[in-house]
Amino acid sequence: MSTTLQDQTTTAQRCDTLIQHALVIDGSGAEPVAADVALRAGRIAAISAPGSLDGWQAAQVIDGTGKVLSPGFIDVHTHDDTNVIRMPEMFPKLSQGVTTVVVGNCGISAAPVTLKGDPPDPMNLLGQSSAFHYPSFASYVAAIDAAQPAVNVAALVGHTALRSNHMDRLDRAATSTEIAAMRSQLEEALTHGALGLSTGLAYANAINAPTEEVLALAEPLAAHGGMYATHLRSEFADILDAMEEAFRIGKHARVPVVISHLKCAGVDNWGRSKEVLAALELAERHQHVGCDCYPYTASSSTLDPKQVTDDYDIQVTWSEPHPEQGGKLLATIAADWQVDMHEAARRLMPAGAVYHCMADDDVNRILRHPATVIGSDGLPNDPLPHPRLWGAFPRVLGYYSREQQLFSLAVAVHKMTGLSAQRFGLHERGLVRQGYWADLVLFDPDTVRDAATFTDPMQPAHGIEAVWVNGVCAYQGAQKKATGERAGRFLARQRPPVNSSSSSSSNP
Ligand SMILES: [Zn+2]
Repeated sequence: MSTTLQDQTTTAQRCDTLIQHALVIDGSGAEPVAADVALRAGRIAAISAPGSLDGWQAAQVIDGTGKVLSPGFIDVHTHDDTNVIRMPEMFPKLSQGVTTVVVGNCGISAAPVTLKGDPPDPMNLLGQSSAFHYPSFASYVAAIDAAQPAVNVAALVGHTALRSNHMDRLDRAATSTEIAAMRSQLEEALTHGALGLSTGLAYANAINAPTEEVLALAEPLAAHGGMYATHLRSEFADILDAMEEAFRIGKHARVPVVISHLKCAGVDNWGRSKEVLAALELAERHQHVGCDCYPYTASSSTLDPKQVTDDYDIQVTWSEPHPEQGGKLLATIAADWQVDMHEAARRLMPAGAVYHCMADDDVNRILRHPATVIGSDGLPNDPLPHPRLWGAFPRVLGYYSREQQLFSLAVAVHKMTGLSAQRFGLHERGLVRQGYWADLVLFDPDTVRDAATFTDPMQPAHGIEAVWVNGVCAYQGAQKKATGERAGRFLARQRPPVNSSSSSSSNP
């Protein structure tokens, strides 16, 4: 290791925590190596051969024999925007080994937001109007600092959120004056550390935004080193056109593109993952593109009449006018009410749903692709949440890596840590490296698995032994309990700005 001799003789003999004899998977994609790891002052102080740090004085010594030590998981796709402040324990994430969440996805964010009434769909996924108190991005950062969540938080700014701040109605294109107002709010957010811009162009409140609106809004991103993440305008028949639109926006703005929860949705679309990934690979030759994916064949969001079909099960998870229908299949509700499913959906809205809309082969192919990182897309305010909220990361390790052997454990960890940090510009995170922040998870590679199911979704995972956030132990697996220590912090964007004269070929 690169610790200097002077360090070794003066301060390096002490540490806060010494984890001994673990199998270290460092997040780079490299194969596991047995090592001892010392944590000091929030960072990784030393990584050395087993036994070689035995002389160190450690306030706490952990026996990692038979366990894997990896970087803490980075959940790049979340809707935890208001929950990191309202429920800073963040137990559904912490208990999976997640140490950082990226909020503000799918065009919806808690900041900067000034509501005129109820939050427009799907901003209602983030909470009711009383949960939105952040008219500026700076005020949101201050609220995170004050709340001290158990996990780190990095944030995108949502296009739909900006639209709702400046437009009287969302079923039309923004005017140039409105775009200018949205841009200045985006710039305020970028100045205060936002990662970039997200869109949710498939949703009713953004679908009438033409590409030109997003092109104009995205222009300030490059000067700040920002990025563009998008819930595509279509994940159904028109997915290739929607991807083309995303790449065009990234090219115009000269910023990296992340396609959110890439999927082939709808029976007519099953089997098209080869085509979709080929389009991604083609774009990769000319610009920085990637995607995230959650490890399930069912999606979940607000109930959308456009997605109502009898091709597969649609489970209603909540309904404002009919809360008693939560948990039932839409087809059952429609039969009970003696109406068709579209009419039933109309009566249930606003509502939430789980759509079993994907094929195993497509999900496998997308998960396995080298451009794919893992994001949960968990919905923390849903009373019957899709199990991804509690299970996404252990499911990748247990089901997809160990049981299905879709990829090695080292590759699985890379997709949840090192590659994720690189994609989202999270500095000194995502790898077990000397000097990096000590976001770490210790897990049992033989038993780690998700326990959350569609019928019983709020279950902490098995096999997560301990989780450290910025060097502080936040979760102990033996009791499946949080320690109560909340050492997470807001992570400001660290990606360097794009030089106005340089091409997009430099590696971020
Ligand atoms: Zn989305």
